[in-house]
Amino acid sequence: MSEATTKTVNLTTDALKELVSSAVTAAVAEARKPVVTEADQKRIEQQQEERRANAADIKKQAEHKALVQKLCNHMQDRGRDASRTACVYIPPTLPENDNGNYLICQACQKIIRPKGEDLQIFNQHFQMQRRDF
Ligand SMILES: [Zn+2]
Repeated sequence: MSEATTKTVNLTTDALKELVSSAVTAAVAEARKPVVTEADQKRIEQQQEERRANAADIKKQAEHKALVQKLCNHMQDRGRDASRTACVYIPPTLPENDNGNYLICQACQKIIRPKGEDLQIFNQHFQMQRRDF
């Protein structure tokens, strides 16, 4: 045995308690750490990949919907109805409430509010839907 291992150390009772306590605490903390197996890791990566694919899919759908709404003339597309608006007016739920008071196109689901760049389209289709129904 080397000299270092045969040395004696004097510890107070409190210091010994402290030493044992911290060693036990560290051992318990280490034991409680979750064990990530290779299968778990693989499953997690698979789920992350699925989420990435879903997000890309949803983004693609949103872009497609935006394009359809941009290209839609908000008119009905069948025979004699072709001169009729496809928009339906949704009135405000309460007079002082901003909920409602918009047109929704039944062809593309675009919500057209009487403000901003949609104001002209709103006025045009609002007049038409009043005439058509
Ligand atoms: Zn439309």
